[in-house]
Amino acid sequence: MDVYFDNNATTRVLPEVAEAMAPFYTEFYGNPSSIHRFGSGVGHRIDQARAQVAALLGAADPVEVIFTSSGTEGDNAAIRGMLEARPHKRHIVTTKVEHSAVVGLCQHLEKKGYRVTWLSVDPDGGLDLAELSAALSDDTALASVMWANNETGVIFPIDQIGAITRAKGVPLHVDAVQAAGRISIDVSALGIDLLTISGHKFHAPKGVGALYVRRGITFPPFLIGGHQERNRRAGTENVAGIIGMGMAAEIALNRISEDNAHVMKLRDRLEGILLTSCPESRVNGRKQPRLPNTLNISFRYLEGESMLVLLDQQGICASTGSACTAGSAEPSHVLRAMDVPADWLQGAVRFSLSRFNTETEVAYVNEKVPAIVQRLQGLSALGRLGSQRRPPDEQRTAGARR
Ligand code: PLP
Repeated sequence: MDVYFDNNATTRVLPEVAEAMAPFYTEFYGNPSSIHRFGSGVGHRIDQARAQVAALLGAADPVEVIFTSSGTEGDNAAIRGMLEARPHKRHIVTTKVEHSAVVGLCQHLEKKGYRVTWLSVDPDGGLDLAELSAALSDDTALASVMWANNETGVIFPIDQIGAITRAKGVPLHVDAVQAAGRISIDVSALGIDLLTISGHKFHAPKGVGALYVRRGITFPPFLIGGHQERNRRAGTENVAGIIGMGMAAEIALNRISEDNAHVMKLRDRLEGILLTSCPESRVNGRKQPRLPNTLNISFRYLEGESMLVLLDQQGICASTGSACTAGSAEPSHVLRAMDVPADWLQGAVRFSLSRFNTETEVAYVNEKVPAIVQRLQGLSALGRLGSQRRPPDEQRTAGARR
């Protein structure tokens, strides 16, 4: 049996979405900027998709939605755009647990002379709102805070965060890449200034995303060239991708409660059984509100990477954390920020579900995982015993080699 439990990395395109996209490759393939019949209708369809995405986000006006190529592009454009629009301000506030699209850019900006405040999280992954409030100053160009964490699923209280940034007059960018389509979003009610989403996390294709920019916010163009996206993001549109994301947004909006109830039931069952059947296990972020589809569970003394290989041999696809940092030997920056103890840090596995998953799959995973964990914990215990028995000199050399 093949079980795909890696939906925070990417999701399967819905059949209705693929169907809606197909004619834009074969029939309506004109450039939306062209005046002739192949092009003119396409621009209209893009605007329909814009309205569908605006509805998912609760945007007051579809023109507040700018189509992009990805979540990474949206995050970069939002942060760079706000810095460009407010050149006299040299300070950014963000958190230690953001996705690498934000962390990497902010580290880069630090090297360019900007000051970045990295807000810490508690051992459950929660933010200290007093720390956020204290960090905002007259010099702060923007705060960039994710809505839901891609590794743990922990949801930050964006309503309270928005109230704080608004009271201090600091624009707020929200990375909602994992939240969109999974929890309800109402940018107008929450007073969010900028918000990033990515289609492939909610059953649209890869290579299309959107950046919401609230009307009235001064925001410079981020790709310069043609007149697409009202001069804000030049470049011929990914038409089929945009149509697909519009359709996926509409479906997500209509099915959000039904899908959430389904994945939460499966996730909770998976979590309950694994915690019982794998004695040295703990759920990361369990005490915080979490995405209903995400389970980040650590198995003590294990190497998550070894676990993934054995899971894959059984047809089970999961992840150790962010797909974007997979392959790096570094432990997760998110779990380190949560002060997850060393024994548990490497053994974290993320199971992330979608509407396509079933009870049979959960039962299959619950049947296979305990034996894999037992086997790896046994090997790890032998390894630890072996290193304790080795003479101290040899232990030092072995340590130095690692
Ligand atoms: N932000 C978060 C929270 C993510 O989880 C991801 C992708 O995993 C991104 C940004 C980047 O999105 P994309 O893969 O569309 O570039």
